[in-house]
Amino acid sequence: MDYEVVIGLETHIQLNTQTKIFCACKADSWNDAPNTNICPVCTGMPGVLPVLNRTVVEKGVLLAVAMNADTPPVSYFDRKNYFYPDLPKGFQISQFDCSLAKGGWLDLPMPATDKDPAYVRRVRIHKLHIEEDAGKTKNESVGGYSRRLIDFNRCGVPLVEMVTEPDLRSADEAAQYLTRLRQLLRWIGVSEADMEKAHLRCDANVSIRPVGADYLNTKTEIKNVNSIEAVRAAITKEVERQKAEYAAGRKIESWTLEWDEDSQSLKKMRSKETEADYRYFREPDLLPVYLSDAWKAEILAGFPELPLARRARFISAYGLPEYDADILTGERSLSDYFEQAIAAYGGDPKRASNWLLNDVMRLLNESGLTAGELKLTPAYLAKIIKLVDDGIINTNTGKSLLEKVNRSGQSPDEIVETEGLAKVSDDSALRAVAESIVAENPKEVESYKSGKVGLMGWFVGQLMRQMGGKADAPKARAIFEELLQ
Ligand SMILES: [Zn+2]
Repeated sequence: MDYEVVIGLETHIQLNTQTKIFCACKADSWNDAPNTNICPVCTGMPGVLPVLNRTVVEKGVLLAVAMNADTPPVSYFDRKNYFYPDLPKGFQISQFDCSLAKGGWLDLPMPATDKDPAYVRRVRIHKLHIEEDAGKTKNESVGGYSRRLIDFNRCGVPLVEMVTEPDLRSADEAAQYLTRLRQLLRWIGVSEADMEKAHLRCDANVSIRPVGADYLNTKTEIKNVNSIEAVRAAITKEVERQKAEYAAGRKIESWTLEWDEDSQSLKKMRSKETEADYRYFREPDLLPVYLSDAWKAEILAGFPELPLARRARFISAYGLPEYDADILTGERSLSDYFEQAIAAYGGDPKRASNWLLNDVMRLLNESGLTAGELKLTPAYLAKIIKLVDDGIINTNTGKSLLEKVNRSGQSPDEIVETEGLAKVSDDSALRAVAESIVAENPKEVESYKSGKVGLMGWFVGQLMRQMGGKADAPKARAIFEELLQ
């Protein structure tokens, strides 16, 4: 039987605020020792009251709008009650039925493969709300006993929980969703979205059904997948397992599975509580959030063009291939850099894109800087490409000039002037060097004349070396051709 894969993703996104959601402790304590970034509020001491961090609401609204969701004028907080050692209050402050956002979607441009043409997958958002994070526990064995350690540093860290409808149809689509979501979060500046630092966490609900069916089969939930590659690998494994179960005439049970990165395998976890067990009710210690039109307008002032829209515009307005548009819009500062460079350059955008993808990307990878931080400004890059286009310097000089500009911050013109980098295309200068090379290498001249015309590259290379790479290569070649006849 042919099966269709049905996947929904639940993500927890850490918002990059200065402080936690309901107290003044700092939000990011990734490098801190356990239990050093806590206070009576986030550890739920008796008598304390939470105070909502305004920036959490603002970043939540930004994300909701970027996800095409509606933002109702009033939303509420609710208590989600459960008992676990990492939750000192005995409940988590979250949002249940009246949350910050309603609806929404993300469109994924899926690239063409050998089997399928390119297409767009629309992933609808089932819910999007803000909430506080819980602490962390770990087990440790000491002298034959086992003890559980608790770190409350993460208690009260602001999160957006975002759950998709079961609209994803393959492990590739799930990976694509996370890639696009991470790009979007960084683009609008609401999260660092670093999966290794748990800024972006993902659980995957996976089931399969016969192709064409409109019902949902029993799903399993995969937890602890903390990289995009792990999500892809874990879903692929689970789909194989479910197919084998059905083929053997067995049923799928509603398990919670844990991804083990070391063995690249899934392990069964304890059975899961159902939603009803949480006894949600309104949080009595917090007021409703009133999102006025004026406040929303203030939040959305300067809202940027989003990455997928910019990607589409780079393809349609500049005629770039999808590959180029994808890389150039991978990060906001790089796509701004590209637009500034082509505005200053005025030539073929694809030519500017080639320089960016090959040479500027290398500088970025080597330095770990963002495009906006390079000493090689977009205007300098445009100038270097023009110097090459105008025949003032050759391509190789252009590439080394780019590195020199980026090291020194000096303008390309200045460096060309002081280092005498301008290309030598003066006929007599080239001819003098070419003649001496021909005179000093009779063996190569003989080989060339007897038919080894491939040696032309060697002759030009000799001349380039003697002239410090500054020779006009086509001219040099023409002179050699004449001399060697
Ligand atoms: Zn605190």
